[in-house]
Amino acid sequence: MEDISEVITRIIKKRKLSEDGKKIAKTAIKHPSVQAFLAQNKDKLNKEIVQASLPTIFNYVEQIEAPNPVMEGYTPKLFLNGKVIDITYVPTEAKLNSEAKMRAERRIELIDLPGKLRHVELENVDSTPERDAALNEVAMFLASFKKNKHIKGLYLTGDFGVGKTYILAGLANAIARQGSRVVFLHVPSFIASLGSHFQDNSLSDEIDRIASAPVLVFDDIGAETLSEWSRDDVLGVILQKRMDNVLPTFFSSNMTMDDLAEHFAETRNNVDEVKARRLMERVRFLSKEVFVGGKNRRN
Ligand code: ADP
Ligand code: MG
Repeated sequence: MEDISEVITRIIKKRKLSEDGKKIAKTAIKHPSVQAFLAQNKDKLNKEIVQASLPTIFNYVEQIEAPNPVMEGYTPKLFLNGKVIDITYVPTEAKLNSEAKMRAERRIELIDLPGKLRHVELENVDSTPERDAALNEVAMFLASFKKNKHIKGLYLTGDFGVGKTYILAGLANAIARQGSRVVFLHVPSFIASLGSHFQDNSLSDEIDRIASAPVLVFDDIGAETLSEWSRDDVLGVILQKRMDNVLPTFFSSNMTMDDLAEHFAETRNNVDEVKARRLMERVRFLSKEVFVGGKNRRN
């Protein structure tokens, strides 16, 4: 360690002060944060330790009063390091919050959806009477999910633009904040892009990954154009696996569940009520239908 008087002299030079270094350091001792530290540790401290630590204390007060921008997000804290007082830097609450938020954002995988959905917060979804049912269900889900990861999701149905995707994005972020991974998938784009997987045989991996996500959101189901294959071997397989493992699954749709049953029955070149019914059974098993109303917020 450097000689204390040298350090103090350097500090004084830098600050162009003429007073005696130790005097300046001693005024630092009067700083409320220093006083609090000294009071907390009074049993372990003695005059020698404090004397030897004056430059550190000075440095500490300087960091509090005129923080170095390099240390942004961290706040200095005194601690007793053997026979000297030392400084450690601890993350500020704001820093911890923003890190938690970033970690949560990384837990959400968006498939064919805009990145801005990562920033939707449930607290910012204004509750109108038409949305209350959905928001209450969402709150109940979050409370239950804390204790049990194998529960039913929700099926938000309502007109275009009422905020279904927005609410589910807020929910996804809250789930990610709790520590779970979420796959948030735009069904029409996903179905339309299935062909791109044929060349590299990656489809079954992709299906497995989606099917096994701890939480899955199927956004805008019913707006896709299905073939028998994409209905039975893609959607059907994913839903079956999630049903077998009771993994929370959410849907948003402009269609009610009954309308969706009809949509499933009609694929590009066939009508098949039986297969549609089987698929709907899975949707109904996995989620509870909730109506979302209100005005169209897109303009
Ligand atoms: P839906 O999925 O029901 O068709 P969206 O969730 O896409 O509707 O919402 C439509 C638009 O309104 C989006 O641009 C979304 O960002 C905005 N929006 C929805 N709900 C809110 C809200 N509570 N506060 C602010 N903007 C909202
Ligand atoms: Mg939507």
